[in-house]
Amino acid sequence: MVATKFDLIVIGAGPGGYVAAIRASQLGLKVAIVEREHLGGICLNWGCIPTKALLRSAEVFHLMHRAKEFGLSATGVSFDLAAVVARSRAIAKQLSGGIGHLMKKNKVTVFMGVGTMAGDGRVSVRTDKGTDELEAANVVVATGARARELPGLEADGDLVWSYRHALVAKRMPKKLLVIGSGAIGIEFASFFNTMGADTTVVEVMDRILPVEDAEIAAFAKKAFQKQGMTILEKATVKQLDRKPGVGVTAHIETGGKVETRDYDTVISAVGIVGNTEGLGLEALGVRIDRAHVVTDEYCRTGVAGVYAIGDIAAGPWLAHKASHEGVMVAELIAGGHPHPIKPNSIAGCTFCHPQIASVGLTEDKARAAGHDIKVGRFPFIGNGKAIALGESEGFIKTVFDARTGELLGAHMVGAEVTELIQGYVVARTLETTEAELIETVFPHPTLSEMMHEAVLDAYGRALHM
Ligand SMILES: Cc1cc2nc3c(=O)[nH]c(=O)nc-3n(C[C@H](O)[C@H](O)[C@H](O)COP(=O)(O)OP(=O)(O)OC[C@H]3O[C@@H](n4cnc5c(N)ncnc54)[C@H](O)[C@@H]3O)c2cc1C
Repeated sequence: MVATKFDLIVIGAGPGGYVAAIRASQLGLKVAIVEREHLGGICLNWGCIPTKALLRSAEVFHLMHRAKEFGLSATGVSFDLAAVVARSRAIAKQLSGGIGHLMKKNKVTVFMGVGTMAGDGRVSVRTDKGTDELEAANVVVATGARARELPGLEADGDLVWSYRHALVAKRMPKKLLVIGSGAIGIEFASFFNTMGADTTVVEVMDRILPVEDAEIAAFAKKAFQKQGMTILEKATVKQLDRKPGVGVTAHIETGGKVETRDYDTVISAVGIVGNTEGLGLEALGVRIDRAHVVTDEYCRTGVAGVYAIGDIAAGPWLAHKASHEGVMVAELIAGGHPHPIKPNSIAGCTFCHPQIASVGLTEDKARAAGHDIKVGRFPFIGNGKAIALGESEGFIKTVFDARTGELLGAHMVGAEVTELIQGYVVARTLETTEAELIETVFPHPTLSEMMHEAVLDAYGRALHM
């Protein structure tokens, strides 16, 4: 069969792949994209967006219960889980459809099917109707990742859920166990706990949210406990006894002692593994390490013309990192000279209640890297807008290099911090020191004033504390 020729073939239409395709097309390349399930990938269909839709329902529900505090009344507050899930699915569908329009607008040819590489830029696409053969000098692999499954803790969709099952929950858990306290686990714990599930989170590391600054994680833990969550740290789920129609007995080891606890639902959120299988990567000589493709800082795999971006490559496994790599790779292929991504300037956000956001080094990591540091903190209770919003729980922390004034890291917990963090990301990208941040005028009354105060505090100059 004669192959259809393109300049670039992208396999996988998540936020990495579809963004790479758009940018390459803007730069004049003839582009094909291959997708086996939904345009928009995990992010739009089973990740970032539908979880935020669920969490928004939980936030409104929570605020309705607080109506009296605001001089309002809301009686008989309740919810319909099917409607909450339907809203989330409708939003995912709307956005996935939007990607279809973007592909059309940018003249990217979409092939709905499973892509496999056969070497020399050839890609076979297996569809319902047969096989399409494509060819291009460059192939970007952007096939993403799926939930990690641990032996004995595998999701069954009934008693034990993966994130996909949790996103389309058909019943409301009464007693929920969440295994894993990374962003995905904590977001589901926050959603179901706010909606009324008696929720326990188990984390194998010595604290929840292990990648976050220790002080932020400790603050979040207290906030979750105040909301009624049970948090078990340095704890391992050894075994799940599943009793269909009844529930699950979990064997949880803490400090060498195993105890059993009963739940009606378990959500397993123990990480992800890259979708590296069945693509023909190994035969081409592409290196795979612990289920992710090994690349250099420009996402090159070492095999000429083959690139890997997003969740299939190294972390952080975040949608904005995938998209940024997509743009970078497209520019590289089109003959440009893009800058490689700086992992320490990629913010991480967890949309639980209270929210968590961070960029750069934690205090511990800054010290471990040998920096002499200055640390600033500012609490939400000291900010007028936070109090007016009824959101006085949280704080912002900055970490500076004492010698150079470089902003090494910023860490936040509290309302809307996922919207605030970008201010510090820009500061890091511009290689700003404390001097420019102190000089910057922050608008009043806003939560962003706390970002200023947390900088001032690092230099002993906080005004409202
Ligand atoms: C519950 C959840 C919540 C999340 N929340 C956030 C968040 O708030 N913020 C954030 O930044 N990140 C979040 N993430 C992570 C985010 O979804 C990923 O980092 C992002 O989707 C990665 O993008 P990607 O393009 O690399 O891959 P994906 O989005 O996984 O897309 C890969 C695509 O490739 C397709 N594919 C795979 N193999 C083939 C093949 N052989 N042929 C054709 N197509 C193929 C898949 O069907 C998929 O559509 C979340 C993830 C989950 C699971």
